Amino acid sequence: MSIKNQHNYRTWVEVSDKAISKNISAVRNLLSRETDLVAVVKSNAYGHGLMEVVQIAYKNNVKRFAVDSIDEALKIRSVYSDAWILVMGYILPVRLYEAIDADISFVAYSDLYLSVLESIKTEKKAKVHLKIETGTMRQGLCGEELSAYAEKVKNIPQVLIEGMYTHFANIEDTSDHIFAEQQLKNFNSAIEQLKNIGIDPPLKHTACSAAIILLESTHFNIARLGISLYGLWSSKETKAISQQKNQDFSLSTALTWKTTIAQIKNVEAGTAVSYGLTESVARNSKLAILPVGYWDGYDRGLSSVGNVLVGGKRCKVIGRVCMNMMIVDVTDAPEAHEGSEVVLLGSQSEDQITADMIAGKINTINYEVVTRINPNLPRIIVED
Ligand SMILES: *Cc1c(COP(=O)(O)O)cnc(C)c1O
Repeated sequence: MSIKNQHNYRTWVEVSDKAISKNISAVRNLLSRETDLVAVVKSNAYGHGLMEVVQIAYKNNVKRFAVDSIDEALKIRSVYSDAWILVMGYILPVRLYEAIDADISFVAYSDLYLSVLESIKTEKKAKVHLKIETGTMRQGLCGEELSAYAEKVKNIPQVLIEGMYTHFANIEDTSDHIFAEQQLKNFNSAIEQLKNIGIDPPLKHTACSAAIILLESTHFNIARLGISLYGLWSSKETKAISQQKNQDFSLSTALTWKTTIAQIKNVEAGTAVSYGLTESVARNSKLAILPVGYWDGYDRGLSSVGNVLVGGKRCKVIGRVCMNMMIVDVTDAPEAHEGSEVVLLGSQSEDQITADMIAGKINTINYEVVTRINPNLPRIIVED
């Protein structure tokens, strides 16, 4: 498909409607009818484009969204008045009224919130989710504090305890789910603990992508699908276990990151390239200068080790990645010319550069590779 002439961008991200729609339907097949899907669209929808992904999700009848910040939530609310939106990250107490006013659910564990919630004068209910600490040691209320806190929240008339949830620490890094099972047990005890004081929030949730795919007992009423909405696996282990258990389940990657050759330069063997003269070409070479660099999210750690696709050929990054430019060796891609389309991440012809391949080279995870693509770069929804 050629969209080359349909826009004026030199570097951009394409997000595939078809891939995201397929992932939604594949994951829905794993859930019972009692479990509703929540699309986790924090961090600019894992780099795929917040509003673009929300639009695709809506088309597939997914109307529940989880984000990290109040600002992301308000962006969704400004376009979709009937979306259900949960802010999972910290909201400054002074901004809580914005969430309440926009009918946005939020997480509570903070003592400062209690006095703020008591003082807010509004017709609207504050929709609160209690975060239960079950072993991740991140955000949430530990066993002993839970009942006392929940009791206080319950006694604030303008608050509705809409949900309770927890998050797993070690479900993707291992094929041994003992720790996750223990967290689930702790969560189930918290449910009982709250029931004993007359609190039974309608929405209970624990599952992230790996839990959705591997552990049915984590599904409850809603399940928070992040990385796998975008067609990526939480880890190699998650993928291996899933494929053992269920060969029919597969994911389709949704993101292609593209740029354009800005200049072609022919250089002699031995010529050093880019800042620091860290690498010299071994042979007479044809180089392509690309208008993309670490500011755009192309990690500087990919200097001399990254690959891009030009004319379906894999071409190596030569020398250091600069802030806004980088240089690749296109000697083996004879058709490369100024203006040629280059794939930084994604597929071209028969070849593909995956977020996992890039992550492996810079010692991180696919999550970080995609979320770090600069949100200023345009996102374009493509059909395929
Ligand atoms: C990011 C996040 C998720 C989504 O996790 P994935 O592994 O991307 O599916 C779910 N729940 C919480 C609390 C999160 O922070």
